[in-house]
Amino acid sequence: MHLEVFEAMSPYLKDCFGNPSSAHQFGRPVKVVMDEVREKIAELLNASPSEIIFCSGGSESDNIAIKGVALFNLKGKKHIVTSRVEHPAVLNTCRLLEKIGFEVTYIKVDQYGMVNPEEIKKAIKENTVLISIQHSNNEVGTIQPVEKIGTIAKERNIFFHTDAVQSFGKIPLNVNDLNVDFLSISGHKLGGPKGVGALYIKNGTSKLFPIISGGHHERNRRAGTENVPGIVGFGKACEIAKKDMESGSKYLTGLRDSLHRKLTCSVPKTTLNGHPTKRLPTTLNIGIECVEGESIMINLDLQGVAVSTGSACSSGTLEPSHVLTAMGIPHEKVHGSLRFSFGKMNTEEDVNYVAEILPPIVKKIREISPLWNE
Ligand SMILES: *Cc1c(COP(=O)(O)O)cnc(C)c1O
Repeated sequence: MHLEVFEAMSPYLKDCFGNPSSAHQFGRPVKVVMDEVREKIAELLNASPSEIIFCSGGSESDNIAIKGVALFNLKGKKHIVTSRVEHPAVLNTCRLLEKIGFEVTYIKVDQYGMVNPEEIKKAIKENTVLISIQHSNNEVGTIQPVEKIGTIAKERNIFFHTDAVQSFGKIPLNVNDLNVDFLSISGHKLGGPKGVGALYIKNGTSKLFPIISGGHHERNRRAGTENVPGIVGFGKACEIAKKDMESGSKYLTGLRDSLHRKLTCSVPKTTLNGHPTKRLPTTLNIGIECVEGESIMINLDLQGVAVSTGSACSSGTLEPSHVLTAMGIPHEKVHGSLRFSFGKMNTEEDVNYVAEILPPIVKKIREISPLWNE
């Protein structure tokens, strides 16, 4: 976490412990600070502060929007459109809704992980109540044509939610251009603390069922005393993101592309997973033929480098990534995929270090692979 973020939070864990819902002298200033953070978030989205509600993170934010709309429509429209490359917070929410009688269409994507807005148009039915399409993908970084999809939803009077957790603070977002009714964000993806997030709810949107019932917090959208230190830290992270977005984006794109170039030269048979240009500055996902991503990951970990692979270890088996699979990448290539994520604290030295240690690791693993044939 950014040091400045930590320092901003610290008083709210100690002396400024008032409850923002309390009208007394200890509560009032905390509410003021919380509302200042609403302004900071709203500014980054070109929204109004009254359109921002706080919650526990990106997952909850996705849940509030999707389940909120669905439960309001239990007796009405019951069709939802989403994509095959959404974050599990969206996908598993939709799967749960299927169990209680909703119909969900999971739109396919192209080889870059991109949704075609025409496919959305085709999927829409008379009873479609909600479209949920991510702003950018967390595994490959592909940025979706959200503006076009938003226009389609708006023309047809269908609610539109976008999971912008990966984009927020990294690339510019404007809720008016995007034509969204709901937009989800999370603190820890931009250098803020974990366990805090927010949902943008367009003013005038009343057809939303609160999934956490209780008091009147957050305009009756989300009950429960707010995570004040987390919110304050989130606000500081927004402030920094606003100041640094342009330079940060250039810097990170530079590091990302530098590593990509170096690996393309030094490791034969690699491919880029994700869109070559419409992609987050922070994400490089590459497929390396004839290796197990897990073995590379373990070797890199031993040398101090943390990466993710194209597989997720669930219930003891290696599940190939649903994102890479949806992009049409064959399973053996999915298992040989690595995701590098970049942050402001990374340097060109880090890139050089990875570019130096990765080729011999790949070479060693390929030498013992029955599939590898030089
Ligand atoms: C991380 C992430 C989430 C979940 O956010 P949490 O704050 O960890 O719950 C949701 N969507 C996307 C795209 C993410 O990258």
